Amino acid sequence: MGILAGGVMLMLAARLPCAAQAVQQARPGIPASTPSTPVVAETRAVAMAREAEGWLAELIKINTSNPPGNEQAAAIYVASVLEKEGLTPEVLEVAPGRSAVVARLRSSAVAEPSKALLLVAHMDTVPVDKSRWTVDPFGAVIKDGYLYGRGAVDDKGMLAANLAVFIELKRSMAHLNRDVIFLATDDEEAGGDASIRILIAKYWDKFAAGYAINEGGNVFVKNGKVQYIGVQASEKVAANIAVIARGTAGHASQPTKDNPVVHLAAAIEKIGNYSAPVHFTSIARRYFEGLAPLEDDEIGKWIRSMDTADRGEHAKRVVSDASPLWNAMLRDTIAPTVLTAGVANNVIPAEARANLNVRLLPGNTIDAVMNELNKLVNDPQVRLEVQPNVGLAAPPSSLESDFYSVITKVTSQGFGGAPALPFQSTWLTDSAQLRLHNVQAYGLVPFPLAQEDLKRMHGDDERILLGAFDKGVDVLMKIVTDFAVTR
Ligand SMILES: [Zn+2]
Repeated sequence: MGILAGGVMLMLAARLPCAAQAVQQARPGIPASTPSTPVVAETRAVAMAREAEGWLAELIKINTSNPPGNEQAAAIYVASVLEKEGLTPEVLEVAPGRSAVVARLRSSAVAEPSKALLLVAHMDTVPVDKSRWTVDPFGAVIKDGYLYGRGAVDDKGMLAANLAVFIELKRSMAHLNRDVIFLATDDEEAGGDASIRILIAKYWDKFAAGYAINEGGNVFVKNGKVQYIGVQASEKVAANIAVIARGTAGHASQPTKDNPVVHLAAAIEKIGNYSAPVHFTSIARRYFEGLAPLEDDEIGKWIRSMDTADRGEHAKRVVSDASPLWNAMLRDTIAPTVLTAGVANNVIPAEARANLNVRLLPGNTIDAVMNELNKLVNDPQVRLEVQPNVGLAAPPSSLESDFYSVITKVTSQGFGGAPALPFQSTWLTDSAQLRLHNVQAYGLVPFPLAQEDLKRMHGDDERILLGAFDKGVDVLMKIVTDFAVTR
């Protein structure tokens, strides 16, 4: 499919009232309706997903790269889509030019926040390096069945899917057993002064809820099949440490032993080779238990052996080496990210610095990491300093809640019987702040995504297979319907 033709087709598809035609054009990755599914419901879901593709394309075209974010433009667009449906969204200003959107479908005259369900997605994206993209990152280009654009997966895809579910509940006049609240947040990627922390401080009453579904977990595809659904119930905590080496500034023609560049490099080498001890959180334990039978015999055997006395240490090494994700789910990680030193080619500087990005398992402390690193570096010329804004650990969401049961049941049915496993993300989401406010928040981007496409989030040529998007909208619809609609 050509680029232009694709764009035109998308616009047409978004307006197609004829569901039959939409089904005919089933995309790669979405199975055609099976005989056991009621045709009416299926075609309606497909038509809804097609409409949501149009919203996703429009959202991609609104550049919300953070910094600076400028999410207000996206907020106004989202509010206009909701208003067309007769809904009454509120655009909440969090900082100048930066807003969130909230809208509510009521189940009764008196709100019961502890029962309410929140559909969360963020409107901002990470920036792009345009020179490394093969298409316009804000052009919403369709190529080979994929919609390309910054935010296609993270997180405008989920934003459009949430819109579709929310609007479908309104259109079908669904009989709700709890309030359903739509929330589009801003400043998620930077987590700064316009983030959900501030939004909650200013406007909590407008979206207080007992349950939430948000990004954070994924439908993992391996060899073209859904391997498992990772439902995020917990996340790691971020912190930064500065490594500062000091020495005597001088002429580079007469090198000295106390050159801070050399001392910094030695410290970074030691830190780079360090592995923090393995610690199983309750979520990670359940994840690996569920994962072992899904992997091939060899790695499955090592996953099962991690907890044994005799082979445990070796098994932890094998599993950690097999996957950076597994490694990071098992321990605190420390990644050197930024180096700063030097003023001129012929001057030995007085100072050299590095930043370490630390991801703590929830429950572990930055002080313990500092202790270990100080022992390891052991150089009087090098000082370590914890940087401001260490994240707060939130309690994990319950794996016994009704909503968790619904998510695992419905997704497993929706993805060919693949199991749903509790997932502890190594990345941060808005859910940590929600969990700190007693919300049972679960992370699931509902689109089946291949490794190759997962890697493009925050990278170049971010894209989503339209068939996968449609499928995700359908599954999300079923999750929310099962939990919030009385039949
Ligand atoms: Zn995101």
